[in-house]
Amino acid sequence: MIIDLNDLEEGFTDLDFEELPEDIHIDDESLQFSSPVKTRLSFYKLGESLSVQGQSSVSLGMDCVRCLESTALSLDTRFKFVFQKGRPDNVVDGDDDSLIWLDDRGDKVDLGQDIKDYILLEIPQNPVCTESCAGICPNCGENLNANPCTCKEESIDPRWEALRAIKE
Ligand SMILES: [Zn+2]
Ligand SMILES: [Zn+2]
Repeated sequence: MIIDLNDLEEGFTDLDFEELPEDIHIDDESLQFSSPVKTRLSFYKLGESLSVQGQSSVSLGMDCVRCLESTALSLDTRFKFVFQKGRPDNVVDGDDDSLIWLDDRGDKVDLGQDIKDYILLEIPQNPVCTESCAGICPNCGENLNANPCTCKEESIDPRWEALRAIKE
C-alpha cells in the first residue's frame, strides 16, 4: 500500500485497495485469512501535510477457545493519521502515533506499515464462535453446543463426596 505523495492532488482523494495480508506486512502464519484485506482510504492533502482516514476489513478463520470449532470472523478497523513534513528541530517523534513525520521516510509512504498494527489489535486474543458458546465438557469432551451431555449431574465434587461419607 505504497502512496506516492507527489501523485496525490491537493484536496480530497479517495482510494481503494485490496491486498494480501503479507503485502501490508502481516506475516503471522498462525492467522488464516480467508480473503484479501480491503481498505478504503480518504486523503486530504494540503501543502506539506496529508491527513488520511480509512477503514480496513479482514475475514479470517480462528478456532473458538471454548469449543475449538473453527469460526469465521469479520473485523473492521478504522484509523486516522496525519503525515507531516518539515519537523522542527526541537520536536522528536512523540507519543502520538497518529502524527507521523515524513522527513525520514521520503515521499513514498508505505501505509501498510502503519495500518497493520491497527488490524492486528482488532484480532481477538480469545475468539469465541458466539458469546453464548457452551464449550466442551471437560469430562467427556462432548461439544456442548451440539450435544449437551449428562456429566454435570453425574459428576460429584470429591469434597462433597467426603462430606456425604461423614453424614452416612
Ligand atoms: Zn465455540
Ligand atoms: Zn460431558
